[in-house]
Amino acid sequence: MTILVTGGAGYIGSHTVLYLKEKGESVVVLDNLVKGHRQSVLEEVPFYMGSLNDEQLLNYIFQTHNVDSVIHFAASSLVGESMKEPLSYYENNLGGTLSLLKVMLKNNVNRIVFSSTAAVYGEPKNIPIQENDPAEPTNPYGETKLAIEKMLQWADCAYGLKYVALRYFNAAGADPLGRLGENHDPETHLIPIVLEVALDIRKEVKVFGDDYPTEDGTCVRDYIHVMDLADAHYCALQRIRKENKGGIYNLGNGKGFSVKEVIDTCREVTQREIKSVNSHQRPGDPAVLIASSQKAQEELKWQPKYTNLKDMVTHAWNWHLKQTGMAQTSI
Ligand code: UDP
Repeated sequence: MTILVTGGAGYIGSHTVLYLKEKGESVVVLDNLVKGHRQSVLEEVPFYMGSLNDEQLLNYIFQTHNVDSVIHFAASSLVGESMKEPLSYYENNLGGTLSLLKVMLKNNVNRIVFSSTAAVYGEPKNIPIQENDPAEPTNPYGETKLAIEKMLQWADCAYGLKYVALRYFNAAGADPLGRLGENHDPETHLIPIVLEVALDIRKEVKVFGDDYPTEDGTCVRDYIHVMDLADAHYCALQRIRKENKGGIYNLGNGKGFSVKEVIDTCREVTQREIKSVNSHQRPGDPAVLIASSQKAQEELKWQPKYTNLKDMVTHAWNWHLKQTGMAQTSI
């Protein structure tokens, strides 16, 4: 029996595919390669380039590979872009998931692990955020993810579809062995941008807002290692397989780091000067996002391993250095 990983050539998807293979799972990947990279998926893993909206292709994959579970990453996932192109977010994220669910039901597949996001909470009412806190997204990206969670819930009621929705906080780091890393084009995420400054690929990093109501005035986020996220997907699938139960879970470390602290950690790890300049706030950015992941730890039996920001930055840095052919830093 095989796990279909949609979006398996993207950042979190490709690390999860690697992790699943290490666990001895049979995996097939579908990715449209708009943001993902073919070389991020192991050669030995069957790979299809295509769209989730192509139900014929999906059907073919389910039948040819004997798919019995799905881990669903494929989505448009940039907050800023979603503010500018909301309809394409509805089309890709909701439309793609709808056709995926239809094909799952047609093939009697009823297990899915879904990539949701902390963006479903919008401006949080409580810190740390718990799963039953109000979900009021402030951008179309978060809205589409929340709508999909609800679609899954109703599909469970009607058809017994078992799902786990994982609300990630800020994914960071890279495979500790340096085989994979974060490679977006264009890059919008803080840590890879700061590391690109350290590598002289960029002149400076802009700090989006230094007048937030936080200790140093910059936004605070909960960074979670990409391999811990990969492990959480595996744990989630095991819960559905063994207990036939799903649920909604936050994935974070329960600790917040400000933008300034992240930049300082990057300076410490890289031992390079990193120029930063203060800039205006980015629309839709809440001041503080910190997760309570207690529910995931208890019910999914998930325990994050790389909780130290320095380790996350070191793994990311090693991968960046490898891309440029330079030596690595040890931890
Ligand atoms: N950020 C920043 N400069 C950048 C990119 C990001 O100051 O060039 C800030 C951003 O405002 C947020 C934090 O860094 O507070 C993390 O942003 P990122 O885009 O990495 O992840 P997000 O929180 O949007 O998922």
